Amino acid sequence: MAWFKKVRKPIEPQANKESRVPEGLWIKCPSCAEIIYNKDLVATINVCPKCAHHFRLGASERLRMLFDGEWEEFDAGLQSTDPLEFVDTKPYKTRLDASITATGMNDAVISAIGKIDGIETSVAAMEYSFIGGSMGVVVGEKITRAIERAIGRRLPVVIVSASGGARMMEGALSLMQMAKISAALARLDRGRLPYTSVLTDPTTGGVTASFAMLGDVIIAEPKALIGFAGPRVIEQTIRQKLPDGFQRSEFLLEHGMLDMVVDRRDLKATIARVMRFALAGRMAEAAAEPPLAVEVPASQP
Ligand SMILES: [Zn+2]
Repeated sequence: MAWFKKVRKPIEPQANKESRVPEGLWIKCPSCAEIIYNKDLVATINVCPKCAHHFRLGASERLRMLFDGEWEEFDAGLQSTDPLEFVDTKPYKTRLDASITATGMNDAVISAIGKIDGIETSVAAMEYSFIGGSMGVVVGEKITRAIERAIGRRLPVVIVSASGGARMMEGALSLMQMAKISAALARLDRGRLPYTSVLTDPTTGGVTASFAMLGDVIIAEPKALIGFAGPRVIEQTIRQKLPDGFQRSEFLLEHGMLDMVVDRRDLKATIARVMRFALAGRMAEAAAEPPLAVEVPASQP
């Protein structure tokens, strides 16, 4: 036995001692490793000022970015009733309550009407931090109502997707939302109102398989993950190595799945331009065919 033995005591965790550095003040860019001051990131709408990496953007920040000023929110009180009383590693009800507390929202989408560059628009923006932006009955219902409201008031529609797909805790009921939203979009189309789909990181599963890909114009943010099944599942199924950049916006644009890849800082202006173009076309059509004449929204410049 050694004569001198150092008795090592583990360092006590300083549970009650508050850190002098406030949390979340600085953020490291995963793409270029630049350390960015959080307030600078707010000014650039969560885009890295050095390399233009697009950090995820919450639904309410998204609306603030798109709308000119104030907006009116709808159906904010709708909440899932947990119809299947689903339990996996923990009960779905517990997950819901935790997300409601964390995000201050009742489900993974906000629907609102406001003006985008002067054009009154019905917008639905998804929130990824609410159970992975998954689409359950409430998300489906709120988006459907946002489309129906647009049909009633003769407004264009913008849906900003950020989703892991259908919400498995609501089983087949969440899959039915795909058909429900798609049917509402078909009615919007018959009403000759434009729908712009904006895909952000990530847009996958049942959301990609339904409304996200049904836009009259489909715009994606740079390097967003967009797909149906994940790359690992596809590799295992087809037993082939997938090419670089597979399922990213630029790859999809090159293969004809998207119309544009637009930097977030130009997104609002691009959406406004697209809607103006579509609405002008509709007005020309209406003038050419009197029986199909439609009212033009009062806000139309
Ligand atoms: Zn960066």
